Amino acid sequence: MHSVKLKKGKEKAVRQMHPWVFSGAIEQIKGKPENGDIVMVNDSNNAFLAYGFFNDKSRVAVRLLEWNLETEIDENWWRKKIRTAVKHREDLNTDDTNTYRLIFSEADFLPGLIVDRYADFLSVQILTSGIERIKGIILDELQQLLSPKGIFDRSDASARAHEGMEASSGGILLGAEPPEFVSVKENGILYQVNIAEGQKSGFYCDQRDNRKWVAAYAKGKKVLDCFSYSGGFSLNALGNKAAEVISVDSSALALETLKRNIESNNFTGIPHQLIQSDVNKQLRAFREGNAKFDIIILDPPKYAPSRSALTKASRAYKDLNRMAMLLLNEGGLLATYSCSGAVDISTFKQILAWAALDAGKEVQFIQQFSQAADHPVRSSFPEGEYLKGLLCRVM
Ligand code: SAH
Repeated sequence: MHSVKLKKGKEKAVRQMHPWVFSGAIEQIKGKPENGDIVMVNDSNNAFLAYGFFNDKSRVAVRLLEWNLETEIDENWWRKKIRTAVKHREDLNTDDTNTYRLIFSEADFLPGLIVDRYADFLSVQILTSGIERIKGIILDELQQLLSPKGIFDRSDASARAHEGMEASSGGILLGAEPPEFVSVKENGILYQVNIAEGQKSGFYCDQRDNRKWVAAYAKGKKVLDCFSYSGGFSLNALGNKAAEVISVDSSALALETLKRNIESNNFTGIPHQLIQSDVNKQLRAFREGNAKFDIIILDPPKYAPSRSALTKASRAYKDLNRMAMLLLNEGGLLATYSCSGAVDISTFKQILAWAALDAGKEVQFIQQFSQAADHPVRSSFPEGEYLKGLLCRVM
C-alpha cells in the first residue's frame, strides 16, 4: 500500500481523530498513489497513524477513514458505514417528516458523500474521488436498505472542481426519474421539492427544528422571512397562525415553489406576500416606508466560503442584521443564521453585538440554534458544525 509520511509535529491532529491531512503537513509520499487510492498515513518516525484516501489535487491531501491498523477498508467496511449512518436516522422522529439527510460526509465517516432522502427518492452528492470509486457499492447498499423509487445525482460541480474532479453527468443513477415536484413532509407541513433543479440538493432540512422553534413565537405576529427559499420558516409561521407573513427571496423558482407549498397546505386564509428582491435592497425599502415587524428571520446563503473571506463576510452579516434590527417593533424577535463554517458561534455573537451597537439597540440572546440531528457534528471535527443561529430579542 502507498503511504504518506507527515512532517514532525503534524501528527497531533491525526491522533486526535481529525479527518483531514492538509498537503502542507506531508513530508514525503511513498509510492505513486492515484487520486482516490487508500494510503497509509505515518508519523515522522514512520509509525502508523491512520488510513485515508489520497488526492493530490485537493487542499485536503488525505481524508482519513480508519485509525486501526488491523482494519481493512474493503467493500464490507464501506457497506457497514453506510448501514450505520442510515440506521442512526431511524432514531429521528419520522412520523411527520419524510425528508432528511441520511449520510453527512465526514460526520458519518464517509468524506465527500452526502445522501438526502425526499420521501421515496434519494439525492446523492459525490464530492471526492475516493467516494467516486465506490459509487457502485453506495448505490447498491442504498437500494438494498431503502428500496427507493429512484436515486438522483446532485453532485455540486464547484465542490468537485476543488477536488480536481470533472463535473458529474448528473441525472438519474438508479430507478425511476423523479417527477418535477416530489411532495415531502417536514414537521407535518407539505413541501414540493424539485430534486433536479432546486437549490443545494432540493431542500434545506438542516433548519427543520429551528423552523419549528421560531414559529412557536409567531401566533398573531407580523413575520418577515428573508431568504425564504421554498418557505421553510414562512410555512411554519403560517401553520402557527401568524397574523401576516412576508417572504423575500431573489429566486423566482424559490418563490414559485413557495406559492405551491402555501396552496398544498391550505394556508391561503392568512395574508401572505411574496417579494422577489435582493434582501438588502428590500430591507432598505421597508425602512424608507417605515414598515415594522414583530419577527424577522434572516437565513442568508454562505457569506464566508473560507476563513480568508471572514472579514468581508463579518461586515456583510453585520450590515444585514443591523438593518433587520431597525425594522423590528420594540421587543421584537430576530432569528438570525449563518451557514458559514468559518463563522463560529462566538464570532457570530460578536457580529450581532456590533450590529446592535450600530443600530442603537440592546439585544438579548434568548435561544441558540444549530443544525438538526440528521447533520451530526463529530467531536473530533468541529468544522462540521456549519449552521449556527441566534434568537435575539431586540429592544
Ligand atoms: N430559509 C430557507 C433557506 C434559505 S437558503 C429555508 O428555510 O428553506 C438561501 C436563500 O437565499 C436562497 O433561496 C437564495 O435564492 C436566496 N438568496 C441568496 N442571495 C439573496 C439575496 N441577495 N437576496 C435575496 N435572496 C437571496
